[in-house]
Amino acid sequence: MADLTLFQMIEKGQIPADFVHEDDLCFAIRDINPQAPTHVLIIPRKPIARLNEAQAEDAALLGHLLLTAQTVAAKCGLEKGYRVIINNGPDAGETVPHVHVHILGGKTMGERLV
Ligand code: 5GP
Repeated sequence: MADLTLFQMIEKGQIPADFVHEDDLCFAIRDINPQAPTHVLIIPRKPIARLNEAQAEDAALLGHLLLTAQTVAAKCGLEKGYRVIINNGPDAGETVPHVHVHILGGKTMGERLV
């Protein structure tokens, strides 16, 4: 059996995490090293390594991850907005090879990359 990713170990309860949301396709946990007052990771149960490895058949799943941002934002009280980030590959600072969507909020983010 292939090695589990870090996030699959969290999914299985082998590593503790603070779960914000769970459904059939994905789960969301608070980041262990938050970069904003609210920092949540939305993670598909399917361990796609990174956005660049996703296939056409994953389109609905990727859309579901983005729509789950609404659910996470509502649960976390991010009425004033939130930032959505996916790090793809080393130049983007990807550190966990299991695609995930960062949701950042709870403060006004002045710094912009784009
Ligand atoms: P990446 O750098 O790949 O875009 O994001 C990986 C994220 O996973 C980082 O923000 C990092 O803080 C978070 N992370 C790494 N290990 C753990 C862990 O064991 N538990 C949780 N909740 N987050 C983790």
